[in-house]
Amino acid sequence: ELKAGVLALQGDVREHLAALAAVGVQAVAVRRASELEDLDGLILPGGESTAMDRLIRAFGLAEPLKKFIASGRAVYGSCAGMILLADRLAEPAVDLAGQPQRTLGGLPVTVRRNAFGRQRESFETELEFAELSEPERPVHAVFIRAPWVEATSSGVTVLATVRIEGIDRAVAVRSGNILATSFHPEVLTQEGNHAELRVHELFAGMMRQNREVLPGAEVSRKV
Ligand code: GLN
Repeated sequence: ELKAGVLALQGDVREHLAALAAVGVQAVAVRRASELEDLDGLILPGGESTAMDRLIRAFGLAEPLKKFIASGRAVYGSCAGMILLADRLAEPAVDLAGQPQRTLGGLPVTVRRNAFGRQRESFETELEFAELSEPERPVHAVFIRAPWVEATSSGVTVLATVRIEGIDRAVAVRSGNILATSFHPEVLTQEGNHAELRVHELFAGMMRQNREVLPGAEVSRKV
């Protein structure tokens, strides 16, 4: 059985745990470095990236999380999670001491937080999303003070875009073991018409593939 963690310092942890369980993945809340050891994958949830950044540092999790990301195991960030995975932020928040917020990185992109502006602070839309099952069925995507991906390095695949003022903005990307969405598929796991588990299924597929390619993973996980 696949086992995934959800970083549980802040944000919509419960929704991701439920979505993982719904796609048949054993799901656990992660608050300590030791809890990362036997995971096939990790989700960084939506919430507030500056608060998460502070808690990550306060709990001594920055290095363990960076190591996990670099290990090649599957990682998925939604919204604030996308911000945490970005190698660069277009306009990072600055705290009272003048320190810009930091990210864990791993995803070679530039992300702009709260990118959609005041007019479109929160909105829902239908998206075409490559690589999902039933690709002809759009994803009903919920955006809440969401970021977008403003620039990508080579090796990054854009999976979905939203057209804003004539420009297609990337709102779902993948680079190797890392998947990120600006929106929150985890909030729509139960709602009849819009029920959406395909992004979590995609993530489960990434974990399954890793079991085949990461040497020794199976062995170390059984002990
Ligand atoms: N605006 C939030 C941030 O900058 C992200 C919002 C979300 O995760 N829904 O962290």
